[in-house]
Amino acid sequence: MKYISTRGNQQNLTSAEAIIKGLADDGGLFVPDSMPKVDMAFIEGLRSLSYQERAVKVLSQFLTDYTQEEIEGCVNRAYGNGKFDDEAIAPLNLLKDVSVLELWHGPTSAFKDMALQLLPQLLSTALKKTGEKNEVLILVATSGDTGKAALEGFKDVDQTKIMVFYPDNGVSRIQRLQMVTQEGGNVAVTAVKGNFDDAQSGVKAIFSDKAFNEELKEKNVSLSSANSINWGRLVPQIVYYFSAYADMLKAGRIKAGDEVSFIVPTGNFGNILAGFYAKSMGLPVKKLICASNTNNVLTDFLNTGVYDRNREFYKTISPSMDILISSNLERLLYHVTGDTSKVAGWMKELAETGRYDVGAEVLNKIKAIFSADWSDDTATKGMISKEYNSEKYIPDPHTAVAWNAFCKQADQKNTIVVSTASPYKFNESVLTALGKDIEGKDEFQLLDELAEINSFAIPNGLAKLKTAIVSHKNVVEKDKMPKSVSEFALNKIK
Ligand SMILES: *Cc1c(COP(=O)(O)O)cnc(C)c1O
Repeated sequence: MKYISTRGNQQNLTSAEAIIKGLADDGGLFVPDSMPKVDMAFIEGLRSLSYQERAVKVLSQFLTDYTQEEIEGCVNRAYGNGKFDDEAIAPLNLLKDVSVLELWHGPTSAFKDMALQLLPQLLSTALKKTGEKNEVLILVATSGDTGKAALEGFKDVDQTKIMVFYPDNGVSRIQRLQMVTQEGGNVAVTAVKGNFDDAQSGVKAIFSDKAFNEELKEKNVSLSSANSINWGRLVPQIVYYFSAYADMLKAGRIKAGDEVSFIVPTGNFGNILAGFYAKSMGLPVKKLICASNTNNVLTDFLNTGVYDRNREFYKTISPSMDILISSNLERLLYHVTGDTSKVAGWMKELAETGRYDVGAEVLNKIKAIFSADWSDDTATKGMISKEYNSEKYIPDPHTAVAWNAFCKQADQKNTIVVSTASPYKFNESVLTALGKDIEGKDEFQLLDELAEINSFAIPNGLAKLKTAIVSHKNVVEKDKMPKSVSEFALNKIK
């Protein structure tokens, strides 16, 4: 299997090459040039396997240039060694009225771990396979969660280093603590004086500074990013759709061949797109339901075929879905049209006018598979309290957005709610939704308060922060960011 750009100007890369490159030279995203197909025997065969074994089977369909041993090694390093606090890795929680796919049992208690544990392994293996001698330095600007998940994924991974910049006063106390206590011999965490935009524009400027990149290359260091358009971040996510189906079979909730639907809290369209790949490969999926918050640009697109980012941006209680440009939609447009020049045209319109219209024919193809709904913060909070009162299950605000869409479905049969974060991560919004008084309490008190009513204990990664040692104390002005990068790049790890 080869990989091509959604915009047509780059052809025939291996998956290892696509993962190293990240983004195609024409600005497009890498997609497989054909869709692997599996049959019901393959799917039924997953029932008795561990998550790791299921992952090897599904990943092998796409990473055809990796050997079986290479894939097994990557999967075991990503999902083994007690890194996840549930042996099932992505357990399907069978509640009375609904099944919940919990994607937050990883080291940072959110769904980004599912992909960011495996991507570094796939990248490091790709560097070895392709004979790439340079060390890769991952640069991340973060407003909170992605930075920590990337640090955990890349720590002590061969031939890589990671440097994370966060806004000095722009992250929560827990998020800051998570990052400044990061362990690992190849990591750096630096605060930038300013807000998230300062950190992000600083990192973007470094990526586009040709002279600076050349200078680093001479020292055998290449810069790269861990952002969500890399194929190596998307492909790990296909696995849990198969795994959830296998668990539905195992639990007797469905028979082989029965269709299931997934409701996915959506921002950048990566998670739900992985469900589309699973369906395209032959998993019996009836509908993929895209759940958004008040930033409901995708709801409008999936209903009208018009993508229009010219609208107000809202800060909500589900911040990981506060997004107006859903990059991975580009991959879906390629797969439903097979037409790279059309995709390139729409993306050009998006860049120039903030808007494009795919027309009725393409929209109908998309609507055969996807539907969409959205919830505002009031409905989301109402949902958290309703689920707690009815099933004693406490969803985080992102999950509650999906759950609210579930409650509004006319056909709820065999529907799986995809849960993307532990409620502990968003304890303040969750406790407020449950009517608790949070005035004057610090984040550790809030964790304890939530623990009193939640059926899960406080995740270890959060509990240990209270006593963890702060090892990253650097604070820099924005214009000193390149200097920090080159110092860290040249300080060889081995
Ligand atoms: C990133 C994230 C999402 C959105 O996922 P996409 O793949 O960007 O659509 C939803 N919930 C949580 C908690 C996240 O961290």
